[in-house]
Amino acid sequence: MTVHLVGAGPGDPGLVTVRGAQLLAIADVVVFDRLTAAELLEMAPPGCEMVNVGKDPSGSSVSQDRINELLVAHGRAGRCVVRLKGGDPFVFARGAEEAAALEAAGVDYEVVPGITSAFAAPAYAGIPVTLRYSSTHVTVVTGHEDLSKGRTDVDWEAIASGGGTIVILMGVGRWQSIRQRLLSGGLDPLTPAAAVQWGTTPRQRTVRATLSTLEQADMAPPATIVVGNVAGEELDWFERRPLFGRSVVVTRAKAQAGGLADLLSRRGADVIVAPTIEVVDADDGGASLRAAIDGIATANWVVVTSPNGAERLADSLRDARDLAGVSVAAIGPGTASALAEHRLVADLVPGRHVAESLLEEFPDPPAGGGRVVILRAQEGRDVLPDGLAERGWTVELVPAYRTVPAVPADSLRERIEAADAVLFASSSAVRNWVAAMGGTCPPVVGAIGPITAQTASDAGMPVGVQPEQSTLDDFVDALCAHFAAQGGTG
Ligand code: SAH
Repeated sequence: MTVHLVGAGPGDPGLVTVRGAQLLAIADVVVFDRLTAAELLEMAPPGCEMVNVGKDPSGSSVSQDRINELLVAHGRAGRCVVRLKGGDPFVFARGAEEAAALEAAGVDYEVVPGITSAFAAPAYAGIPVTLRYSSTHVTVVTGHEDLSKGRTDVDWEAIASGGGTIVILMGVGRWQSIRQRLLSGGLDPLTPAAAVQWGTTPRQRTVRATLSTLEQADMAPPATIVVGNVAGEELDWFERRPLFGRSVVVTRAKAQAGGLADLLSRRGADVIVAPTIEVVDADDGGASLRAAIDGIATANWVVVTSPNGAERLADSLRDARDLAGVSVAAIGPGTASALAEHRLVADLVPGRHVAESLLEEFPDPPAGGGRVVILRAQEGRDVLPDGLAERGWTVELVPAYRTVPAVPADSLRERIEAADAVLFASSSAVRNWVAAMGGTCPPVVGAIGPITAQTASDAGMPVGVQPEQSTLDDFVDALCAHFAAQGGTG
């Protein structure tokens, strides 16, 4: 098997290459560094061995020799090894030393280049590293040389006199002396200079200044410093996004977090996925759901009261034609779109997305009576079944699933406590939050609909964000509007 030296990209997990993602998905062992994005590690298959060489058990980082030995040993053992390295593995990353060790040991290896922070961090800060006519070359240089050498190989004066754009990695700690040498090399003190910290991540921060005014105190690692006319460009597409600088806790069940989390991060939010709910089979192990689906073809209606119910219905149908003569009602647009993903178009979606309004809009039973199958959570409210029964329907109430409380991981607590907002998509998510997190309540609380909002305010969490329509898109829009009205970020 092969040891793959894979560039993880600069921070945004979306910037890993397709090849890198393919290899992660089949890895037996992943060897990673301190700053590796959790989303990339989650791409590895279950059971994959994860080796953090950013820190060993004693808390100090693993030596390069030890890393080389590890790669050789795992490679020799015939395992598919992914060595994830920040940015590009061959740009100031000692990837070459690892490749040389594998070469010397006769272990097969592959290099998967990555997007380097040298170019990506400036790009996300709105700084093109070259510009036609005015900045025709770019020098990428390390500000951190091997101290043990006792001398410097970087000819900063020559770099200064060469003009063009200068991109400095690992330069924060030595900025004063680097600046001094660039000035003595003849650079104008008014040359634009910028520092991009945590580039391409939701924590990105850009400081724009000049060579003489950019101060060490303004920046902290990891940061990329850009010196040159291009550093004055402000093609500020990333930090301008409506939720940039906001951290938002999503409390939905893990399987569903994708949709909401994705919508939020596309608007620039730092999303903390901390489900307070997990969806499992009903207490009967799914028996009544299976029985209901077996007899579904003879029902007049099936009513689905949540996206979870929609998934369960679609997953347990044996034959799509069983629903041929059955009308389908969805409690709201979120449920309707979960059905639509399985090519089931709801016949009835009430104007207001609560059980009461579904009840109002539901037709009367046919003359000889009719049967309604309601698929819902085991612990759901009884408004709908009781109401339909009163109207003369034969109601079959099916506990299609059960939600159980989940407790957010301890490792997330600190981020959750510092978050700007928390979003709830159900009353049980609210109740479980209170049980798990006690009085922790971010400044902004969002609820997807009126019932959830009521539960939250009853629990002492005043709701500041509630969409008119209970859809995820509207939920996220409402959050953006809330922050826009507040003005400023962070
Ligand atoms: N191989 C990496 C560079 C490793 S050296 C690459 O190609 O990107 C580590 C340095 O990279 C840091 O000190 C910092 O200067 C820069 N860097 C890494 N991640 C960064 C980020 N998200 N934003 C800004 N600079 C970053």
